[in-house]
Parts: sequence; C-alpha cells; structure tokens
Amino acid sequence: MKTIGLIGGMSWESTANYYQLINQGIKQHLGGLHSAKVVLVSVDFAEIEALQHQGNWQKTAEILCDAAKSLEVAGADFFLICTNTMHKVASQVASAVTIPLLHIADATGSQLNSNNMTRIGLLGTKFTMQQDFYKDRLSNNFSIEVLVPTEDEQEIVHKVIYQELCLGVIKDQSRKQYLEIINNLSQRGAQGIILGCTEIGLLIKASHTQTTLYDTTLIHAQAAVIESLKN
Ligand code: GLU
Repeated sequence: MKTIGLIGGMSWESTANYYQLINQGIKQHLGGLHSAKVVLVSVDFAEIEALQHQGNWQKTAEILCDAAKSLEVAGADFFLICTNTMHKVASQVASAVTIPLLHIADATGSQLNSNNMTRIGLLGTKFTMQQDFYKDRLSNNFSIEVLVPTEDEQEIVHKVIYQELCLGVIKDQSRKQYLEIINNLSQRGAQGIILGCTEIGLLIKASHTQTTLYDTTLIHAQAAVIESLKN
C-alpha cells in the first residue's frame, strides 16, 4: 500500500472528514484491521485565509510548498491538497517536490466524465467560482461546461463557507439558501452540482436534494484510496 500525503487544515473540519473517508475506503477494500498509511501536514487556516483575502497567493504557495516537502521527507508516495481553493497554486506546489499531486479537479472531472455529465453547476469559494484555475481545468481537460451562481448567490455561498462551515457551524437557514441556489443552477441547465469546497458536504447531503451532487471531498478521498492500492 502506498503512503498518502495530505496537506490539510484548510479547514480542519474537512480534513477530519478526509481522514475518516480514506480509512473507511481502505477498510472497504482490504477488510479486517486494515487502515490507510497517511502522513498529514496541517497548516494554520487563519494565516492562509488572511493571505487569500489579501491576494497574497505567493505566500500561500510558499507555505504549501513547505508542507509538501515535509510530506515527501516523511515518506508520502503521492499527495493531496485537501481544499479546492488552494489548487489555485497547485502547479507551484507540485513542482516543489518529486512525488505526484493528486489534483482535486482531475478526480472530479474523471468522475463527471464517467457519469457522462457535460454541464455542471459549481459551488465553492468566490476564488473557485470566479477565477479560471478550476473551471478551465474542467472545461479544457474534461470538456465540461461549468455554470456558477449569480453574484448575489456567490456572496452567500462564500460567506457561509468562511463564517460558518470552516468554523464547524451548520445552520438550517444556510442549508435552505444553498438548496435554493442548487435549484436555480438546475433550472439553468446544470445536470448536477459540484460541491467544490471541501466543507460543503458537511451542510448539504444527497438526501437533501434530488439533484445529483459531486462532493469533492468524497471524490478526492476515494481517488486517494484507489491510488494508494495501485502497484
Ligand atoms: N475548503 C475550502 C475549499 O475546498 C475552502 C477553504 C479554503 O479557502 O481553502 O475550497
């Protein structure tokens, strides 16, 4: 079994979920007392969040490059950045080490392709919904058309992520707002919705909507399990 490296803490609420999903996945495949071989470097999210909102992506990249190097030294065979947003600096982080990065948008794109999805709604931070680093990867490499919420809706989605979900706060009112936004995207032609922020799955579950959800935390964790079991 390969050792999985995780850069986590963004936020730790979702990293805890990654750890559980990866171990559940290994147990499902191998049974018995098997568990995942994992190395985790967890950063201080307050520092990252402040830099993101100042636009200092260079400094965030340096922090994540250091984290990736620590994973490599600690014996990780490949690694994950446990957040969609920080894939903005993924290529810089990947080039700081010799071990491969398992990119969250690639894992998601592959899943969408295998389900024959061609037009999809995307929920995430404003960085993920507005900038090109994530949407372009899905459209260029996986031929997927990505729809994003209106500006007002994006404001709501973004605020709930940073002011509630990353703090472990789950509110019915916010769930209601998210479900309305999901519904609006479906009416605009989205065949399904990418939960493109690793905390959204804490708020919105498949049982809350008839729309097909693509939870990036689950997809990314499952891809890590498959990769760790490859020869
Ligand atoms: N975990 C979130 C994501 O997947 C947001 C936190 C962050 O800004 O990294 O984008």
